[in-house]
Order: sequence, then structure tokens, then C-alpha cells
Amino acid sequence: MKIKRIILTCSVFILFACKSRITGIEDIKVAKNVILLISDGTGLSQISSAFYFKESSPNYARFKHIGLIKTSSSREDVTDSAAGATAFACGVKTYNGAIGVSDDSTAVENLVEIASLKNINTGMVATSSITHATPASFYAHTLNRGNAEKIASHLAESEIDFFAGGGLEFFNKRKDGRNLLHTLNEKQFTIDTTSLNDFSTIKSSEKAAYLLAKDAMPPASEGRGDFLSKATELAIQFLSKDNSAFFIMAEGSQIDWGGHENNAPYLVSELIDFDDAVGKALDYAEKEGNTLVIVTSDHETGGFTLAAKKKKNEDGEVYSDYSEIGMTFSTTGHSATLIPVFAYGPGSEEFMGIYENTSIFEKILKATKWGGPNEVLVK
Ligand code: MG
Ligand code: ZN
Repeated sequence: MKIKRIILTCSVFILFACKSRITGIEDIKVAKNVILLISDGTGLSQISSAFYFKESSPNYARFKHIGLIKTSSSREDVTDSAAGATAFACGVKTYNGAIGVSDDSTAVENLVEIASLKNINTGMVATSSITHATPASFYAHTLNRGNAEKIASHLAESEIDFFAGGGLEFFNKRKDGRNLLHTLNEKQFTIDTTSLNDFSTIKSSEKAAYLLAKDAMPPASEGRGDFLSKATELAIQFLSKDNSAFFIMAEGSQIDWGGHENNAPYLVSELIDFDDAVGKALDYAEKEGNTLVIVTSDHETGGFTLAAKKKKNEDGEVYSDYSEIGMTFSTTGHSATLIPVFAYGPGSEEFMGIYENTSIFEKILKATKWGGPNEVLVK
């Protein structure tokens, strides 16, 4: 009887020991791939609009691990997209306008450079010019976001394997007379300036570039179609060839522009388009199991609010109709509100809590074990 009890106690102990060991292993599972989706200029009200105005359930609702980031830049309370994206890409707080350089103007290593050293494939997708501040911060180093031609030359010199967006004129109609499409060709890029073709046409190429507009891509409501979702899917397919690991940054660039214009229908249609791309990334990550998906924004734009709609009664008095949403704005610029972060996959628990935007960079490196900025020197 006594022996039996001892055996039973031991079995229970061993069982629990095993279980906690297994749990421990799961906890430290390394993320093989990372898809970082940035919706420029998107705060909680913008995200909320998908819950009121998207016909299907928003993909945002699929996340369990959610946090908040503080977005102020090194010198300003209210950040711009350059400092905001540099925080994600390089892990440093810098001044507004800076692309991939620290507050003292030193070039700082970015996620594309870090990942490329580990032979991780890298890709950029944007609905702006691919040289715009957000994508630029992931591959360029320049003191000012305004120099699109310089940023394009940094893209051509970078280790990026796939990109899709606008900005063709900064490659082939340059003041310095260079045609960077030739440079890209020499670097084994297959270039398409007309459409996102079938995967079969780029399957055998080493690298792929889609430059589908002179500058920005058109708005979703003016003929861009499902470019963002398709390009994100294409990037995943292309970069995961031969079971390779990858890092993708995909940006819904124009949610910010709807905010600047105080144009609610523009903003909401761009946000819903972005949510579709989030769905594609999650579909892949759920199927594949080793992919960390992070969805966040650099800052909020417009001081956007989903308020009760203001209406007038028969006497001409203004009242708030709580049965209808009226979308209003408090600024044509950015705001300093905390920004939500959504994460799925290995390491996603790390993204819960409230922290600085620079921690996104650190948490990605922790989840992937790609190394860090101290391991190599910036060129
Ligand atoms: Mg942007
Ligand atoms: Zn903006």
C-alpha cells in the first residue's frame, strides 16, 4: 500500500516535471519568419472603424496578444513616419525626418541588414512610393526623408530580395541620369513595371521588383484593387522558396493620408484594405506555424474619432444622434496617442504590455534570434 502510494506520488511528480519541461520548450520556440505589417497613421479609432464598417469580421479580431506603444521621437512628443519607422527598423529613437540614422546622425543597422547577414530573405511592400519614409527606414540611411532619389539608390544597394510599390520615377527618371533599373537587373532582379504577375513568371528569378506607379500607388478606391494583399502574398510565396526564412515589412501607407486630408471614407477604405492584407499574413502564419506576425502603426493621424453623429432637429438645434457614427477629426497632422500592437505566432506574448516603439525591434530580434546590432558594423 505504502509502496503503491510512493509510486503514485513519483508518477505524478514526473508527469508534472515533464509537462513543465514541454511547456518550457514551447515558450522558447524561435520564430523562423517575421511579417511586420505597418498601417501608417492608425490609432484605435481607425482600427475600430473596421469593426463598424467592414462587411466581414475584421482580421484584427484574430489576435490574442495585444499591447500598446509609446511613439514619441527623440526630440518631439508627436512623431513623424520617418522617426516612427526608424524606431521599428533600427531600435533607436531619432528626430522627425531621420531615416535609419540615430539622433546624432549616425547610420544605425536595420532589420534588413541584420537578417541578411543570417541569409534571411527580405521584402518590402508599400502602397506609397517604395522610397517613402516608412519602407525607406528599413533599408536606407539618410539625414532627411525628402531625398527620394538617394533613398532609391540605397534600395538598389541593399540586400532586399523582393519589393513592390510605387516610385518608378525615382529609379529611371533621375536628376543624376542614372537608371537604377539597370543596377537592379545586374543584381539579378526581375523587374515588372506594369502589374503583379503570376508567381510562375518570377518563380525562377533570384530577386523580384514591382514598381507599379511613378510615385504613390493610387488609393484603394481609385483602382489599386487588392494590390496590398496580393503583393504581401506574393512576397511570402517568393521569399519562402526552397524553405527559406524571411522578413517582410508591408505597409498600408495611405491610411495616414486619409487622416491628413480629414477624409473619413478614404481613411476607412484604406484601413479595410490593410485589414485584408493582415488576413493573408495570418492565414500563412496559422498554416505554417513558425511565423511571427506583428501589426502596428508608427503614430495616429488626424485625431480621428468615432463620435455620435451631430444632427439638427426641426428647430435647427444641434444634437448628438447616438444611433449613428459621425467620423470627426481634431487635426490635419499626427497625434501622440498610444498605438496598438497585435502579435501572432512564436514570441507573440512578448508584445503584450505598454512599451516604447523601439522595443518592437528588440522583441523581433529576441523572438527570431537573428542576432543584434552589436554583432556587425554598419557599413
Ligand atoms: Mg508611411
Ligand atoms: Zn503622416
